[in-house]
Formats: sequence, C-alpha cells, structure tokens
Amino acid sequence: MTLKAYTVLEDTENTGGIVFARSSAEARREGSCEFGDGDFNWGKARRAPWADEYAPGPVPWKVLFDHGWWTKCDGCGCTIQEGACDDDCNEREFDIVEVGAAVYCTPECRERHLAEQEEHARIASVVIAHLTDRVLRACPGAIIAPHAHVYVRPGQARPHAVEVALVSFVFPGCRYGAAQLRFDRGDGPPTFSICRGDRIAFSRWAAAGYPPHMMDSAAEGCAA
Ligand SMILES: [Zn+2]
Repeated sequence: MTLKAYTVLEDTENTGGIVFARSSAEARREGSCEFGDGDFNWGKARRAPWADEYAPGPVPWKVLFDHGWWTKCDGCGCTIQEGACDDDCNEREFDIVEVGAAVYCTPECRERHLAEQEEHARIASVVIAHLTDRVLRACPGAIIAPHAHVYVRPGQARPHAVEVALVSFVFPGCRYGAAQLRFDRGDGPPTFSICRGDRIAFSRWAAAGYPPHMMDSAAEGCAA
C-alpha cells in the first residue's frame, strides 16, 4: 500500500508535523512518537493530500510554507511564515533556502550564518589552543581530554564575544571527573577547577611536580 501524508498536530499548541503512513491510526502513532514523546494520545492525524507526492518525506519547507506552516530561520531566528511582518510592519519577502534539515529565510542570511560559524570555529580553535597551552605549562604531565568547549555569543564574531571556554584534562590519581581550566566571561581570567573528590590526588600530583606517569595503582583508568 502506498504511503499517504497526514498532519499530526497537538490541538491546543498546534505543534507537530507531517507523517507518511498507511492509515490514520498509523500516522497518529508515528507522529505521537516523533513529536509527542511517544504519548499515543498526544495528537490528531488528518489527511494532507497536498503532501502525498513527497512520500516518504520530508516535505520541502517551501511547500509547507505555502500551506500555512511556519518555522524559525536557522540563521537569524526570524519566523518564516506567509504574511509575517518585519519590525516596521511591512510584509516580509522570503527567499527560502533549505539545506538538509536547515532552513534559512534568504540566501544572504545563510551566507552570513555560514561565515559566522566559520569565524566562531576559528575563534574556538585559537581559544582552545591557548587554554591547552596554559594547562600544560602549569601542569606538564596533564593529559588533555578531547572534549573542549567554547561558546561564542551568536551575532558577535569577535574574540571578546567568547562567553565560556573550557579545556578538560586528567591527571594521575583522578577518579571522579576530568579537571578543567575554565574561562567564564565576567569571572576574570581562566581558573582551574578540580572536583572535590579529586582534590587530594591533585595536591599529591602537584607536590610531585605534575609528573606524567601514574603515581599509584589507584590511578588506573583515569585517562580513559
Ligand atoms: Zn534568516
């Protein structure tokens, strides 16, 4: 049997999406699973014949938009909806660009967003290199963990827009969690944080001059 398109929507909030299924019951089950956290009573399924030709999905946003759906632009966050207005109450012109699951209001918005992401990635790599260097200069035997994190404020592609940056590392004897060198905008220079249970081990490691090798058998597994 061919798949047919259904909208599966939660009535009061009007959230949900399009589901392709063989029956209304199947659509409701699948839609509730996908959009309503598996609660079978979450939404109602209604046929949407205009979307049948896009089986098995996804339906292009341009088509959804023509049928009254709305979404947020992945670039600037504006609401993309037919009849949406700008700040001066003029009806907005959209020139939707869809790339994979991302939707942008205009090609220029996507360009801006990609350029910003590139700049943020560049800033992040500079900041991570800087923090890593500080960790290794302070504690030469530290093993830097792969999950560094940098958050740069959206819309601000300049180094001073870094909100949070942290580099994690493990050391001989640590058992409860990776230690961090962490920068928080507003808190001044980066600071080290060692979880409470690991502070004695850290002190012993510091007293030994931050050596790279395991100091005792209790340290096994800490570099995992
Ligand atoms: Zn946009």
